[in-house]
Amino acid sequence: MSETLVPELPQELWRAGKLELAHGVTSLLQVMRVASAGLGKYLAEVETRGAEDLFGYGSASRWFADVARISHGDAQDVVNRALALNPVAEVGGEATVFAPATAAAAEDGALADQHIDLILEVLRRIPSDVPAEERDGAEKILADLARHAGPKEIAEAGADLLAHLDPDGAEPKDEPEPDPPRREVFVERRKDGFWKLSGLLDPETGARTAAALDAHGARRPVDEFGQADHRTMPQRYGDAWAELLDLAIACPDQPGTSGYRTLVHVTVGLEALRTGLGTACLDFVGKITAREARLAACDCLMIPVVLNAAGEPLDVGRMRRFVTPGQRRALNIRDGGCAFPGCHRAPKHCHAHHIRHWADGGPTDLRNLVLLCSFHHRLVHHGDWLVRMAPDGIPEFVPPQYLDPLRHPRRNLLHRVVT
Ligand SMILES: [Zn+2]
Ligand SMILES: [Zn+2]
Repeated sequence: MSETLVPELPQELWRAGKLELAHGVTSLLQVMRVASAGLGKYLAEVETRGAEDLFGYGSASRWFADVARISHGDAQDVVNRALALNPVAEVGGEATVFAPATAAAAEDGALADQHIDLILEVLRRIPSDVPAEERDGAEKILADLARHAGPKEIAEAGADLLAHLDPDGAEPKDEPEPDPPRREVFVERRKDGFWKLSGLLDPETGARTAAALDAHGARRPVDEFGQADHRTMPQRYGDAWAELLDLAIACPDQPGTSGYRTLVHVTVGLEALRTGLGTACLDFVGKITAREARLAACDCLMIPVVLNAAGEPLDVGRMRRFVTPGQRRALNIRDGGCAFPGCHRAPKHCHAHHIRHWADGGPTDLRNLVLLCSFHHRLVHHGDWLVRMAPDGIPEFVPPQYLDPLRHPRRNLLHRVVT
């Protein structure tokens, strides 16, 4: 069991720095989790000896509900966890622990109740004809994962393990979509066979949509027969929409450079682009922060127009910043999707993030690129996570100090096949 001390609460919490606040929360959490593992030992002992004999209650959970002044259902959950993590004698058999690796992690204060319940749920669903070593191996994988991962990853790994151990078992339920909705589109088929399209787009996507429709929906010049283009704007946009779909279908392998992605300009000063301080200008939208511009320019989601101090456009490595289709394919194979730990997003939803921004001289080559979904791309640009290339050429992510004081690097294991 690891050493845990109840951290001393500072007299004046308002003086504490953000690291101190984060440290206080993580230390107290660990103390609480170690304490719940200890509480479980007592409850398992009460259950084993018999709550009836000891206290005159029908079960340990009935007794604990009264002691803790909580509902019987909640007490039952606590006791169930305790019985799974502590030695309980089978009738006529030796005392065994249902989930020993999980118990060890719980005693270290590394697990929340939610982690424990997810692992126990997986273990209960493993068919009884699976050999004991395989079951123990699966439990160890989940318990080790739970020491640093969240519930989503445990559920995902658990479903993979179950599919592996019990290929004929029930299909695991799909996880809910993790990213908050930033845009939505509705398409409805009408009775006459036409479709109605409506929705809401975030500022960037909206600007890119408008730019793409404008570019492809421009009035055609008068043709050789003197015929002018009399289509109304909505009609031209409609035709542009059809054209864009053809374009998208024609170049499925070139998400970084194909057509409409690069039709919006973001105008930004070189200093602002390097530091992320100040403002930039986005077509159709107006001012955005230089931080946003840095993100938009990273994978050339928009054409960056970089200005020098005198406001003249600079040609900052225009060629080197574009990811080639070949590089993109290699990235798709290497990362298999968003490389952020625990993310499920497939390659087609990802941007190619420059680990060292091209504005700072970072090259556009595989060792400086990593696939990230738009949510995690934003998080890496704006948050405290650090991404770097490990010596074996696989990207790894260093969590912020408030998540992991030792800042132990993590990888995304979800796109790799569990064997
Ligand atoms: Zn980026
Ligand atoms: Zn992601």
